[in-house]
Amino acid sequence: MQNPDSPLSIPEQKTLNQILRHCINLPSIRVLQLDNWARSGNLNAQPKYPEFGVSLSQKFVVLDRDGTLIEHVHHLSDPKLIKFKPDLVSALSALSKEGFAFGIVTNQSIIGRALASQEEVGAVNQLIVDFLEQNGINISFLYVCPHVPEKYCKCRKPEIGLGLRAISDFNLSPSLSYVIGDQESDILFGKNLGCTPIQVQGKAKRSHLAEYYARTLSDAADWILGR
Ligand SMILES: [Zn+2]
Repeated sequence: MQNPDSPLSIPEQKTLNQILRHCINLPSIRVLQLDNWARSGNLNAQPKYPEFGVSLSQKFVVLDRDGTLIEHVHHLSDPKLIKFKPDLVSALSALSKEGFAFGIVTNQSIIGRALASQEEVGAVNQLIVDFLEQNGINISFLYVCPHVPEKYCKCRKPEIGLGLRAISDFNLSPSLSYVIGDQESDILFGKNLGCTPIQVQGKAKRSHLAEYYARTLSDAADWILGR
């Protein structure tokens, strides 16, 4: 649940210092514990916490997982059931050529509900990251919220804890970056983080908060590259 007193509740009030102060104070021990498996295997870089005043310069496309990169599968815990979106590689390749880096932020309450283990979800994530890397697309981070909504944690989208972590770890520039997802929570996450949110058409209803409503990932990529 968003703290109404938080200076981050209204995007326009965010300043760089507020973002960074929030990052440094982020007490997400659960998130830190998840890093070893939630990140892809070749991303063992230690988190670094930038000093206030550091320039956040890296443009990112932050992607939702289920329903965005891959087809939605109820309680997905078996990598064999992964079905990639048909235009995934071409869309991300086009963005990569223009200097965008990529991250994935995903809510996986199936862990909190004990419907899947961390290892099972980790195996699904690893396969996705490996597939993309085999196709020349590097995923800088893959952050997972394992909690059920009733925990009111700071890492479950639309809360922005994991986005703040990307700012801290990878110099993600919110103003240069985009969030793509199919759910309202993705769009709110992007908006609250200060990124440009894009909704890809799926089963969820259309969000009026999205800057663009894309038919496909390729449509979203074309829109970004045309700006
Ligand atoms: Zn969480």
